[in-house]
Amino acid sequence: MSEDFSIGSLVRDNILKLQPYSSARDEFSGSASIFLDANENPHNAPLNRYPDPKQKELKKLIGGIKEIPSDSIFLGNGSDEGIDLLFRIFCEPGRDNVVTVDPTYGMYGVCAQINDIERKSVLLKKDFSLDPKSVLEAVDDRTKLIFLCSPNNPTANVLNHKAILQIVEHVSCLVVVDEAYIDFSENPGMLSMVPEIKNLVILQTLSKAWGLAGIRLGMVFAHPEVIGFLSGVKYPYNVNSLTIESAMEQLADLQLSANWIASILVERKKMAGKLPGYGFVRRIYPSDANFLLVKVDKPGSVYKYLMERGIIVRDRSSVPLCEGCLRITVGAEAENSLLLEALTDYDQLPNKNYSP
Ligand SMILES: *Cc1c(COP(=O)(O)O)cnc(C)c1O
Repeated sequence: MSEDFSIGSLVRDNILKLQPYSSARDEFSGSASIFLDANENPHNAPLNRYPDPKQKELKKLIGGIKEIPSDSIFLGNGSDEGIDLLFRIFCEPGRDNVVTVDPTYGMYGVCAQINDIERKSVLLKKDFSLDPKSVLEAVDDRTKLIFLCSPNNPTANVLNHKAILQIVEHVSCLVVVDEAYIDFSENPGMLSMVPEIKNLVILQTLSKAWGLAGIRLGMVFAHPEVIGFLSGVKYPYNVNSLTIESAMEQLADLQLSANWIASILVERKKMAGKLPGYGFVRRIYPSDANFLLVKVDKPGSVYKYLMERGIIVRDRSSVPLCEGCLRITVGAEAENSLLLEALTDYDQLPNKNYSP
């Protein structure tokens, strides 16, 4: 990142000129007991009221847990909202581009397509490590975002921080590091670097380690200027009252998710220990996440057999560098046992070319 790096210079002109929608609750600050400003229904409390457009209390709670000031936090309808908003704020359709490092999470590419943004795909190295040089070679002066996923989905590994920083330091665009799975890793992640690095954006989510995929709450941590643009472009009430309430409730008890993570890690280790025992399993990749990438013979056949048994895994065998691979989420102990049982039966089939 050069000395004169400015976030504003990356932003689309229409967004720079935007006068954001100002809701009744945005304009009011202070204490009042009678709210006749937003045409709400006075009956059916508390859901009759619009939620806080700034999610102040929830940001304070999350900021305390993550040790990040509220003005560096954006909350959205899943990480997917954050990803989409980054495209809409920074990438001029038909002109700008983003770089993704593949194989990785599909939403970066889907959002690029929806927003009519060219995506330059760089491959991870064969051992799934990040090659900063190849990423830097793909970057040009129309590149606005670089997406890195760490731990990466579907390869399950953390990307080397030095390699990420090498990219961050040499570009004048934003580097988005998606840490959806970071709580399953011993690696602390890069969140603590956000206050010092202006072009670093971190995504996290309550969907995985926190067990709250159903409420849709994604977090973006970035420089306050980036957060300001995200907040100006989002729907005014993008995070609903029920989501805010259940997030507040659950984040008040950190032990709960700590216990879940611990038990998932125990199960991950157990599964990683047992899977190599099957004749058709070629390789288990090391995992920093709550899933295992498993290379097998005839992945389509294993996939179909498991499906017949009512067990769904993800077939990633057509993805570059993941040839032959299934991605298997680490489930509860009982679920994992059923999976292992089914695989034992599959292993005993005389002709492992299963097709129902
Ligand atoms: C699961 C996942 C997410 C979570 O997305 P939400 O919209 O927050 O549920 C984000 N990034 C990656 C890489 C994921 O695998």
